[in-house]
Amino acid sequence: MACIFCQIAAGAIPAQIVYSSSDVTAFLDLNPQAPTHVLVIPNRHIGSIAELGATEAELVGRLVAVANDVAQQEGIADSGYRIVANVGAHGGQTVPHLHLHVLGGRTMTWPPG
Ligand code: AMP
Ligand code: ZN
Repeated sequence: MACIFCQIAAGAIPAQIVYSSSDVTAFLDLNPQAPTHVLVIPNRHIGSIAELGATEAELVGRLVAVANDVAQQEGIADSGYRIVANVGAHGGQTVPHLHLHVLGGRTMTWPPG
């Protein structure tokens, strides 16, 4: 199991977990880009959001619901936040295990870099 996020989901390497269930885990990003920066991942290995199709509709819903719950829990729901999924090289994806970034606690800029 070489995938770092699979290992975090399995509890094999430490992370600051803010939510965990049988299908989804959320933890603080090691290199936060905003005062609040949480990653939401499926526990099972999926390479990126590009691999999600209609058969994963329930999982997509779970990931988004957990991202919103985490925003509430971390106190950024009312001020607003950004959910990002980087895909592939041009998308800026560096870890090849699907993750949603939940960013908040400051005003985000647009367009992103
Ligand atoms: P991306 O560039 O979209 O693939 O995002 C990967 C994110 O994972 C980056 O924001 C990293 O800071 C973060 N990251 C990498 N390794 C860890 C780790 N062991 N624990 C927490 N966050 C990590
Ligand atoms: Zn993985």
